[in-house]
Amino acid sequence: MVQFEGKSVYKGIVLGKVVVLKNHDDQVRRRKITDADAEIAAVESALEEAKGQLQKLYDKALKEVGESNAAIFEVHQMMLEDEDYIESIQSMIRTEMVNASYAVAVTGDNFSEMFASMDDDYMKARAADVKDISNRLVRILEGEGESSLSDMEPSIIIADDLSPSETVQMDKEKILAFVTVHGSTNSHTAILARMMNIPALIGVPMDLEQIHSGMTAVVDGFAGQVTFEPDEALCAETQKRIDEEKEKLRLLEDLKGKDNVTKDGRTVQLYANIGSVGDVGYVLENDAGGIGLFRSEFLYLGRDSFPSEEEQFTAYKQVAQTMAGKKVIIRTLDIGADKQADYFNLGKEDNPALGYRAIRICLKQPDIFKTQLRALFRATMFGNISIMYPMITAVEEVEEIFSIVKEVQAEMDAAGIPYKYPEQGIMIETPAAVMISDELAELVDFFSIGTNDLTQYTLAVDRQNARLDDFYRPHHKAILRMIRMVVDNAHKHGKWAGICGELGADQELTEEFLRMGVDELSVAPSAVLRIRQAVRMMDLSSAD
Ligand code: PEP
Ligand code: MG
Repeated sequence: MVQFEGKSVYKGIVLGKVVVLKNHDDQVRRRKITDADAEIAAVESALEEAKGQLQKLYDKALKEVGESNAAIFEVHQMMLEDEDYIESIQSMIRTEMVNASYAVAVTGDNFSEMFASMDDDYMKARAADVKDISNRLVRILEGEGESSLSDMEPSIIIADDLSPSETVQMDKEKILAFVTVHGSTNSHTAILARMMNIPALIGVPMDLEQIHSGMTAVVDGFAGQVTFEPDEALCAETQKRIDEEKEKLRLLEDLKGKDNVTKDGRTVQLYANIGSVGDVGYVLENDAGGIGLFRSEFLYLGRDSFPSEEEQFTAYKQVAQTMAGKKVIIRTLDIGADKQADYFNLGKEDNPALGYRAIRICLKQPDIFKTQLRALFRATMFGNISIMYPMITAVEEVEEIFSIVKEVQAEMDAAGIPYKYPEQGIMIETPAAVMISDELAELVDFFSIGTNDLTQYTLAVDRQNARLDDFYRPHHKAILRMIRMVVDNAHKHGKWAGICGELGADQELTEEFLRMGVDELSVAPSAVLRIRQAVRMMDLSSAD
């Protein structure tokens, strides 16, 4: 039995088999070889094996997600036949006398950089593909076979770190827990774990060389511990606790269909945060009153080209229809910082959290923004959609947004495309927006406070940096005063204000938020019923 401690991101407990995900970029070692022909032959057979894997993936995707989404695997198969790519690998093996996997990895990096620097958007998008096929070949050459998570039984994922785009691609049904060496509690990967309702530990000082796929482990999100190869006693105790947790969840079920009302009659809206159409199931399952934050940028992650207007429209329409008239607040693209998609070509920045991200990209590249706005406006016909803009710092930005919105509407009017006029609000997640919230309140229909970024920017603490987790203090008086100020300014202008950052689900503050007059809390779907329970037990008529 080997035990490690880490920081818990979601409180839950599981027992299951482990799958270790390795990061090939860091892993491929350069070795001197003596037999170049043998290495080249190994590459040949890896190419054949990879084509076979991709054919299987194509067939599976064709059945599950349709031809247009499956086509990427055909493109990958074609890339494996590219003469320049193969010749570059062979030549590196012969001239430098290096191992096949190293030659593949370096060629992959070189080609990927070359594609990324091209002007043509289609070619730029191939940068991620060539990396992908090279990683596949390296896995085969290193004898690890197919890393696809799709065929595995539900497992505990062990990794050095996980990016939001890796996490978003995983089949949620197959994941019991995440345990990573790196990562911070406020990262989007952590948010996704909370969303999916699965235990997750980060900052676990384990040696990945000592941990193998197939091992058994207990992940205890309450104690912040992971135990590999647990003994019988721990397995039995864990099973008992898993059953108790299930019972607690069953009791919360009784709260479904009930109002979020305090004993003295104050009602608060309890909405849920989602990242994809698939998450709507969790929203309904947990009886949330609406969707307070649809992080639309997740539609842009884990792929290698922009989602089309049609694709986006279909996603927004589906969410609106499924929510059947309940409020669905869709946030426009908040890409950048930790949410990176290669095809945006955002480039490396010294301070990405303070960089070219979110609304800044939308205002500088209005074509991207307009495509999303058109999809959103078209979807307004199918339910109760509101639009929300992220990372606002100035009145001028809101004015510029509304002038682009007007252009889009004029174009739609001219083309006879119907839409309803949606409620439009902004995220308050920068100290600047807090300080001018009185002026902003005149322009918009609502505020939603993003406490994750507001904490990062107010306390000057990078939310991605695990070393700073102890300094990341969302309960800081400065943050609480800011929230009060934003709510007061919204109310002065007859607008509503909610919280959609992770702090909204912090039960230690629920009563304080209600006393401040917060109108809405948008939280991970799994938190809705327990907050409803807390609200229904509260009595605000007593003194503070
Ligand atoms: C926030 O910053 O609090 C927020 C809700 O947005 P995100 O976590 O996606 O940056
Ligand atoms: Mg934010």
